[in-house]
Amino acid sequence: MDITLKIKTFLKSLFFHISRGMPKCTKKEVLFRYNICIKCDEFIENESQCGVCGCNLSNKVRFMNKLAWADQKCPKDYWFSIERPNRK
Ligand code: SF4
Repeated sequence: MDITLKIKTFLKSLFFHISRGMPKCTKKEVLFRYNICIKCDEFIENESQCGVCGCNLSNKVRFMNKLAWADQKCPKDYWFSIERPNRK
């Protein structure tokens, strides 16, 4: 994937993530999503990356992993965002 497009997609996802209060996934939620991705034709295994959006995909609960951001969703609708209660 083109690096410029990848950066653009990442920044778009990051701004959305920040606007939603940066909700995180649990380890169980990350693994649920990851198990879908590794069976997907768009998963680029050697780069641990989605071939559609270019985002990093990992089974770890860490910041640079789209699967660990609860507000994110699969660009092909194979998995969805997870709603978190509003913070007070
Ligand atoms: S985010 Fe969606 S399209 Fe991308 S690899 Fe995962 S399941 Fe496939």
